Amino acid sequence: MKPITWAVLDIDAREQALARSPLINDQGVEASVSGIIEQVIANGDQALIEFNQKFDNFTTAELRLSDEQIDVACSNVSPELKQAIEQAMGNISKFHQAQAFSAIDVETLPGVRCELRNEPIDSVGLYIPGGTAPLISTVMMLALPAKIAACRRRVLVSPPPINDAIIYAAKACGITDIYQVGGAQAVAALAFGTESVPKVDKIFGPGNRFVTEAKRLVSQDSRISVAIDMPAGPSEVLVIADEAANPAFVAADLLSQAEHGEDSQVMLVTNSEAIANAVSNELATQLEQLPRKDVAAAALKYSRSFIVDDMDQAAELSNQYGPEHLIIQTRAPRDVLKNIRAAGSVFLGPYTPESVGDYASGTNHVLPTYGYSRNYSSLSLADFSRRFTVQELTPSGLINLGDTLMTLASNEQLDAHKNAVAIRLTSLAKEGNNE
Ligand code: NAD
Repeated sequence: MKPITWAVLDIDAREQALARSPLINDQGVEASVSGIIEQVIANGDQALIEFNQKFDNFTTAELRLSDEQIDVACSNVSPELKQAIEQAMGNISKFHQAQAFSAIDVETLPGVRCELRNEPIDSVGLYIPGGTAPLISTVMMLALPAKIAACRRRVLVSPPPINDAIIYAAKACGITDIYQVGGAQAVAALAFGTESVPKVDKIFGPGNRFVTEAKRLVSQDSRISVAIDMPAGPSEVLVIADEAANPAFVAADLLSQAEHGEDSQVMLVTNSEAIANAVSNELATQLEQLPRKDVAAAALKYSRSFIVDDMDQAAELSNQYGPEHLIIQTRAPRDVLKNIRAAGSVFLGPYTPESVGDYASGTNHVLPTYGYSRNYSSLSLADFSRRFTVQELTPSGLINLGDTLMTLASNEQLDAHKNAVAIRLTSLAKEGNNE
């Protein structure tokens, strides 16, 4: 990656330099995904079976895994992997349990009581990517908060054939409602329902550009009312490094995201030309040793390296980009953190590789991409529930608030609103009841 000097770029050039991979903006994706959705609506399971053959070269008449298939898959998982899953589950559970909602009950005026309550979303659909890598960790990131939030129906979909470890992790996290279908067709099935796949209230999970586009389209479709978690698309990382950073660590972190997919993007921001060059050399060396080097090399084509004046400018650049993952490998990472306003998840210091958040530190790895970290949050327990308010007024509460309500209603020219208050105040006055 040839370094670009940030200070010499004008506003347009900066925007262009921070553009995501052009592969994501492929105009053909919307048309083909919308075609897939319509076919699932029209032909249900039959469409899913045909798309399984077309995109994943997989033939099955049964989309839902049987208990027996689940048990066989679980028995194929090694004790070593089971133990790793168990430790990761422990940390993820601990961090998400700590996010439990505390009900709010406030008296805003004497006799005016307001509450904020929380209810789990009834049915959730969890998409586990499986096209290029079996993301066992994503099962834990979605299924554990859904279980802790107490969502009643939890359905999992993933491209076939589903990896045994994905099935094991699902069962360990309390999910046995598993369907072997992936891509845009799986999202369409969860949104509209088919003969075998149940329709859900909210769809969660990351995926490639077809999955992400399908989530966007179904969430805007006026025929249904399905929610989605966020636009969590192809992975990206931005690393801020100063002269204290270890170039081999930085290169390893950049490659760990580049290997996700050819549309992934990795960015290096440093105030040291020496570090930029050393990282570039390390990238070349480490890339050669990766089994997925073709994928990583393709992603590096649309990745960039920037030279900045100082760490304040590095933070400003990062905020403008809004990375999904932000790694800060500097002498004083928490000083840089103070200026960070937009990032999905932040990794501080040389011993916090991005992989810890991917797997087992406890934080959630489902994060907004494509600059959406400026307006979306990383996935948390709250996403699996809804909040609603309750209010209750005593007679004196209504008397205390009456004039304000009627003045506002009059000024909005909504007489029925005003009457709903006035009729009660008149009745209270007649009864002489003002507590
Ligand atoms: P995937 O499960 O998202 O996609 C595979 C499916 O894509 C296939 O089953 C197929 O149905 C569909 N597909 C493939 N080619 C198609 C075509 N030409 N037309 C229509 N549909 C097609 O798995 P993946 O491809 O490995 O992608 C996983 C993605 O998830 C990666 O981009 C990764 O970076 C991202 N990810 C993001 C996060 C996050 O939090 N943002 C976390 C983990 C992974």
